[in-house]
Amino acid sequence: GISTESSTPAFTVVMLGDPGVGKTALTGIFAGDTDSLAIDSEMFVEEVCERTVLVDGESATVTLVDSCNTLEEAVSEVCSVDAFLLVYSITDRASFERAAELRIQIRQAEAYANTPIILVGNKCDLVRRREVPISEARVCAVVFDCKLVETSALMQHNVWLLFDGVIRQLRLRGNSS
Ligand code: GDP
Repeated sequence: GISTESSTPAFTVVMLGDPGVGKTALTGIFAGDTDSLAIDSEMFVEEVCERTVLVDGESATVTLVDSCNTLEEAVSEVCSVDAFLLVYSITDRASFERAAELRIQIRQAEAYANTPIILVGNKCDLVRRREVPISEARVCAVVFDCKLVETSALMQHNVWLLFDGVIRQLRLRGNSS
């Protein structure tokens, strides 16, 4: 018979958040472009990055959709969404509040009632400019019923923890598309 064990699951992950929070930089790391912070963000025309990665010895193909400011714009690029990453900057309270608005919009859309959401507090290297305490973000994540990860694209801190974590979470749900 045909073995299905070798088939690689595919997941679509949509990244949302205010401009300037670091979505392009995070995508650059995912895409394997470690010099992404050195390049002007405007040079990135690709808004969708597909990559097959190995997590816990098993492969997964992830399509990462980035650079979208509205939910409508983001979901118009893909057929289905397996997870949302709501990115804010820990140095920018307005971007944290924007993530909360996006969270409400997502939950209001019936299609995404059960879609996992991960709250991503980027730029955690900028400790002196922090405007959003981690304790507050944790409370927010509990209220939102989502995971929280603080990352630094600049230091490449927790970035793969984030992406690997998303893949593990989606595997457990077994809802690859
Ligand atoms: P986007 O508009 O959400 O795609 O944000 P970008 O990825 O273009 O990043 C906006 C600016 O923040 C750029 O100047 C980046 O170099 C910078 N940036 C992104 N991530 C980090 C980070 O983790 N730490 C620091 N210090 N700067 C970052």
